[in-house]
Amino acid sequence: MSETSGRRLRQLGDVPVTKLHRIGEKRSAALATLGIDNVFDLLTVYPRRYIDRTHQVDLSDLSIGDEAAIFAEVTRVSSRRTRQGKAMVDVTVSDGDESIKIVFFNQAWRERQLPVGVQALFFGKVGDYKGARQMANPVVDVIVGATGEERDPSRVLRVAAIYPASGKAGITSWEMGGFVEESLGRAGFLFDPLSDSQREALDLVDRNSAFRDIHLPANFGDQHPARRRLAFDELLRLQVILALRRRRLEESAAGIRHALIDTDLDTAPGSLVSENDSLVRRFLAQHRFALTSAQRRVLSEIWSDLEGPLPMHRLLQGDVGSGKTLVAVTAMLGVLDGGRQSVLMAPTEVLAEQHLASLRRDLAGLYVKDEAVLSGEREVTVQLLTGRVRAKDRQATIDGLQSGAVDIVVGTHALLSDDVRFRALGLIVIDEQHRFGVEQRSRLSEQGRERSDEGADPDLLVMTATPIPRTAAMVLFGDLDVSVVDELPAGRRAIATTWARADDEVTACWQRVRDEVAQGHRAYVICPLVEGSDRVEATSAVEERTRLATHELRGLALGLLHGQMKSDEKELVMAQFRSGEIDVLVATVVVEVGVDVPEASVIVIEDAWRFGLAQLHQLRGRVGRAEFQSYCYLLGEPPTADGALRLEALVVSNDGFELAEVDLEMRGEGTLLGARQKGRTDLKLAKLTSDDDLIAGAQALAGELVREAGEALREMEDELHLFVDEEDAAYLFKS
Ligand code: ADP
Ligand code: MG
Repeated sequence: MSETSGRRLRQLGDVPVTKLHRIGEKRSAALATLGIDNVFDLLTVYPRRYIDRTHQVDLSDLSIGDEAAIFAEVTRVSSRRTRQGKAMVDVTVSDGDESIKIVFFNQAWRERQLPVGVQALFFGKVGDYKGARQMANPVVDVIVGATGEERDPSRVLRVAAIYPASGKAGITSWEMGGFVEESLGRAGFLFDPLSDSQREALDLVDRNSAFRDIHLPANFGDQHPARRRLAFDELLRLQVILALRRRRLEESAAGIRHALIDTDLDTAPGSLVSENDSLVRRFLAQHRFALTSAQRRVLSEIWSDLEGPLPMHRLLQGDVGSGKTLVAVTAMLGVLDGGRQSVLMAPTEVLAEQHLASLRRDLAGLYVKDEAVLSGEREVTVQLLTGRVRAKDRQATIDGLQSGAVDIVVGTHALLSDDVRFRALGLIVIDEQHRFGVEQRSRLSEQGRERSDEGADPDLLVMTATPIPRTAAMVLFGDLDVSVVDELPAGRRAIATTWARADDEVTACWQRVRDEVAQGHRAYVICPLVEGSDRVEATSAVEERTRLATHELRGLALGLLHGQMKSDEKELVMAQFRSGEIDVLVATVVVEVGVDVPEASVIVIEDAWRFGLAQLHQLRGRVGRAEFQSYCYLLGEPPTADGALRLEALVVSNDGFELAEVDLEMRGEGTLLGARQKGRTDLKLAKLTSDDDLIAGAQALAGELVREAGEALREMEDELHLFVDEEDAAYLFKS
């Protein structure tokens, strides 16, 4: 057991920043705008980077063409306008021996930032201006303010930590460093929830050294083990939430042991079956194609969950087009074999309607026993519940769910309105949704329990729209078991992706659309995302359709789909596109997820850089759903380097998991966690792309701590209160 002495992090959270010498009213107000209120907040403002003072580049060593960081003092500053009228600030800096000129274009404020006497770090490339060395628009970190301001002794240490500065709040990196240092002093000796042996096993330094070395490393490099330990604590807190949730679920669960009549998944299309065979078997025998081996593997994982005593909480990952829907349908039939109903929830009405149509098509001719009907059997019944279903139909479906006459209900969120009750709800499938938070998911299954006459927890299968890197899945979905459909159906070809930039490439793109349509295939044209409103976006889609119909795609049958259309209009257009009455669907991102029209073989994405990488991959996944070659064209010239990187990544890779890694790398963990995810503010140091060993270690240790239920668990739970508000905490810890 670890020592029980030492300050708790929670106690530091109770010390307001105004208790520090350097901070009065004005500065505390400025810090508050940065979300920094107390000493704990300050200790977790981490340096952005470190400068090894022992390895500083001397100005005398700098040559033209070098990329370097130089630490120097401003000796002259002036500003003027160039002949083109641009603001230009000229700065001369010196390291005591030599000096060099630095110029800033269009950054007039640099004159105020860099008065004579300021010492700063300048990072950039050394260029040549009329034979002299010069840096243009370098990155600047002010380390020591202009004369007259207090200098901190730590600044002459061997390693300088550079903190995030805030121009808006008027706090420099160097001031922030001062606040943090005083906080370290105030904090004193901290309690470490990890025992020596736990730390040793995970190769982690103790908490006190970690906080000291991340802020004030004595030697360059000391910050690395410090970061490792603090990142581990972040991950451990998250994993503790998840482990507590898991335990709570297990303790309170009233799971269903589904009676699976038949778990044989090898039945091939066209196999001979009898009416006494299971629905699963009869379905597979009449289906158009056999399950892929990945689909079979995932289903057998689902079967063992369904048979087990605890409710299933499973995440189904799979790249676009990998056939997640078929897995869900087979699982729902397995549940129906056991005599229970299923829910299939989609994020949009378009998707819900598509699922309804394909389920009715695929399940046609399958009979299920029902004592309530005269013949003793009836066709498997699938109904729709969305916000737009007419009152009369809606009531009929609700009655059918209550009596058991409806086996499967497909819908949107509207599905879980108060009056929807089930005779025996066995399975909830959520399609194409990965931004559900932990607590929303468990609310869903609790609701399922309350709504079903059985009073038991239905099993839960969540299918993600976007592949998530394995490590991120462990953090985001640590309370779920994960299955991956890691194989595409046989015969699929990689989608040929082109970033069409030159005029002739764009011409070739529209020619391709014509050629594919001539072969009986179909095409999507995705209109640019328009900032502002859905209405503006819809207008631009309407205009784009008109333009294409009179120019590039004259003579083809063009349809339109956007968010402002009424549901029945959307449904009609989708039906026409499916049937081929419409050749080209000009659409906004409403088709982003899940839409499945296998005959579509080309997608043109206009102003592609406006979309995120995951979104682009999803959009592209609308084609390549059959054996023939498909094409994706990205149009538009990105104004930013990031935009270009996204398009390049897409051209190079067809693999959603690979792209998800790239995306995570580019955008950081914050965006992935989404606004609703708990603990988002607590991932400042942990890197989901590279800290796999820490994530796995944290998951294992969290399980241990929760089982031991000792001092360390109490401490981690207590620390969690620093990151979640009271209401969320009440929910998370409720038992
Ligand atoms: P996603 O995983 O993106 O939701 P879908 O479930 O929409 O993918 O499936 C993509 C396409 O692949 C659909 O047209 C579907 O009919 C087809 N498909 C699914 N499973 C198989 C299979 N085992 N063999 C051949 N085609 C399949
Ligand atoms: Mg899907």
